[in-house]
Amino acid sequence: MSRRSKRRAQAPAAQLTPAPAVTATTPCPCGQGVPYGECCGRLHSGAARAATPEELMRSRYAAFVVRDEAYLLRTWHPDTRPPGVGFDSGMRWAGLTIEATTEGTAFHDTGTVTFLARFTDAGTPGELHERSRFVRLDGAWVYVDGDFLG
Ligand SMILES: [Zn+2]
Repeated sequence: MSRRSKRRAQAPAAQLTPAPAVTATTPCPCGQGVPYGECCGRLHSGAARAATPEELMRSRYAAFVVRDEAYLLRTWHPDTRPPGVGFDSGMRWAGLTIEATTEGTAFHDTGTVTFLARFTDAGTPGELHERSRFVRLDGAWVYVDGDFLG
């Protein structure tokens, strides 16, 4: 998940709504059904590290929601890392579905995660469907790049 998709679903424009306030006790934006402070918040704060590419993917999605640029950059492979993350104030992430994973266990140094991330952009719904590649770098999983899927 590196860029916003240009593809937009056809739907009537909705009201522009503010980003949801995320605190340690509110449900984690990644959709795991546990409080943010016990889920991706632990990774964002540096208290824990993602054990699998899926966990890293979820935490990066949540970092887009809470606009944690530092976390996104430090979990990005140095070869593909951009100088900064351009957050769009009109963009509201609306949900994440992990569709498939490959490799990414304790016995692997690579892995992929296929996901569908829903959003609204200035009130217009859209989705990002991507297969992301991850590698283990100095023991920590990092995001490399991804392919957009149809
Ligand atoms: Zn989470």
